[in-house]
Amino acid sequence: MFFTAGLFIGSFINTYAYRVLRNKPVAADRSRCPRCQRPLAPRDLIPILSFILLKGKCRYCGGKVSLRYPAAELFTGIVFLFIYLKVGFERELVPYLFMCCVLIAAAFTDLESMIIHDSLILFALMGGILLNFLFGTAGLKEMLLGSVAGGLPLLAVALMSKGGMGGGDIKLASVMGIFLGWKLVLAALFISFFIGGMVGMLLLLLGIKRRKDCIPFGPFLALGGILSILFGRELIHFYTANFYV
Ligand SMILES: [Zn+2]
Repeated sequence: MFFTAGLFIGSFINTYAYRVLRNKPVAADRSRCPRCQRPLAPRDLIPILSFILLKGKCRYCGGKVSLRYPAAELFTGIVFLFIYLKVGFERELVPYLFMCCVLIAAAFTDLESMIIHDSLILFALMGGILLNFLFGTAGLKEMLLGSVAGGLPLLAVALMSKGGMGGGDIKLASVMGIFLGWKLVLAALFISFFIGGMVGMLLLLLGIKRRKDCIPFGPFLALGGILSILFGRELIHFYTANFYV
């Protein structure tokens, strides 16, 4: 059930990312083929399944559908499943799933255009505060502490590297702290930098990127945030048991 819900929400995240980057209203009319502009029927919009049945092509014009769309759906489905398996029916489940949706949306707009929209940050901020109050998962003080712990390290990186870290990344990490609290958001940043560093080095070694090139950090933040929910507590425990004291 959670996997299927994730597939459909992933499909909505695709629509969101596509529209927000093209300055179209997110809740506009029906989805259209980006190539022939013909409105798509519900049977064309079933996550994964439509892509497979139509062999990755538009039913009307035969234009290729990017593999990114089913990939985002599958990824969101898998994230929903794993978060549910990890957290179970606890108070944190809904706030965590909400945060994952925001992170995935931010990752995709950042990947495509190096943009994390302020409207998404604002939506996440208000949603985070509301859900934390609703489910009793965090008070104002904890949320404030979490957002400072998430945003401050990236702000420091941005200042030291003179713009090597974008404002969108700082805001995203800060809002992530509202959901995760200060401990897990620090774990999330650690994971983000670790994976980001590895991927960055790999891209350099393979000659895909050069030293002065930019790579978007949003996708790594998203990955860090999601993995922090799944393994953050274990990571903190491992760290304090082996290196601390
Ligand atoms: Zn078409």
